[in-house]
Amino acid sequence: MNCLQATKLISDAQERELNFNEKIGVKTHVMLCPHCRKFQAQCAKMHDLMKQFAGNKPE
Ligand SMILES: [Zn+2]
Repeated sequence: MNCLQATKLISDAQERELNFNEKIGVKTHVMLCPHCRKFQAQCAKMHDLMKQFAGNKPE
């Protein structure tokens, strides 16, 4: 897996459940690649913010 595939799957993971092979691929790549590890952390943070935002709708 290269960085392009990894980042694609990392952003996909915010919207759908990755299959077993995809999860393993991402996990392995992220362990070896600081760039994608950072991207994944940012994605998770962004996803949390979005969830908070969606949960705090104005009345
Ligand atoms: Zn990478």
